Amino acid sequence: MTGRIVQPDDAGIAEAVALLRAGSVVAFPTETVYGLGADAFSHKAVGEIYRLKNRPSWNPLIVHVATVEVARDLAAGWPINADKLAAEFWPGPLTLVVRRATHLTGVGADNDTIALRIPAHDVALRLLAASELPLAAPSANRSEGISPTTAAHVLRSLPDVPLVLDGGPSSWGIESTVLDLTTDVPTLLRPGALALRALRDVTGAIALRGAETVDGAARPSPGMSKRHYAPRATLVLAKDVRDVEVDGPVGVLTYEGAALDGAEILSADPREYAADLYAALHRLDDAGVATILVQEPPQTEDWLAVRDRLGRAAAK
Ligand code: AMP
Ligand code: MG
Repeated sequence: MTGRIVQPDDAGIAEAVALLRAGSVVAFPTETVYGLGADAFSHKAVGEIYRLKNRPSWNPLIVHVATVEVARDLAAGWPINADKLAAEFWPGPLTLVVRRATHLTGVGADNDTIALRIPAHDVALRLLAASELPLAAPSANRSEGISPTTAAHVLRSLPDVPLVLDGGPSSWGIESTVLDLTTDVPTLLRPGALALRALRDVTGAIALRGAETVDGAARPSPGMSKRHYAPRATLVLAKDVRDVEVDGPVGVLTYEGAALDGAEILSADPREYAADLYAALHRLDDAGVATILVQEPPQTEDWLAVRDRLGRAAAK
């Protein structure tokens, strides 16, 4: 390992700022997962994110900002829904996609939109304020892998990141909800930490993409899922894990009420389950099992983000 885990005191933040200003990258904690941050408008720095993560160039990056004013400066227009949602949920685990200000380039993707959020984590906010930079920051892991929810997870996946600010375990433990505000009806691009119900209270109807249904009941068929969020072990989702026979060392992940001897048991509350999911997958992976057998969570909207991640982690 070449990277260092550093306490987020004034000296640690100053060291991180110096790296960011020099066009390098720094991993930092957010309330969702740990991010791999870079000056959003430095081609060199953003290129380093794509290189380190081995991330496909078509996958755009979320830009983290310190204030709503900065967000508005980066946008070509600021819809009324952006105003209302930012007032209600920022800082927080909600990413808004809006038209990008025309003078801006960078952020890695060839489109005319920008994805923005203010993270709700003291260390992230101090880093944004001290650097005075908008920070592009995808999850700090190799592309397709499990997202990091601790500083140690970051270095295990990305040993070449020069510096990781340690802010303890991420409280939400699952990525932000991404909402596209450039469509007539706001469109959910990625289910995440913030529940759809909370968003609908502010915006009214929200469209889901593709084969996902409006009440959020069904995932698209597994064949449609891109592989993402995946452990090294093969992840198998089962309606009832007791019915499945697998060869070789197996780890079982289930939740309270569907408990089983020898299994990792997470909460039956979707928020608590989400907070522990990635750490549990990291643990099972580190134990060296060949297969991780996961009891399918309930088909309700509360579990939408968790089912999305598990579906993608199971995809071939
Ligand atoms: P990640 O940074 O890996 O957590 O994921 C970023 C996600 O944010 C992408 O996969 C998209 O869903 C979304 N996103 C980021 N930027 C844009 C954009 N300009 N337009 C649409 N979606 C975006
Ligand atoms: Mg990611």
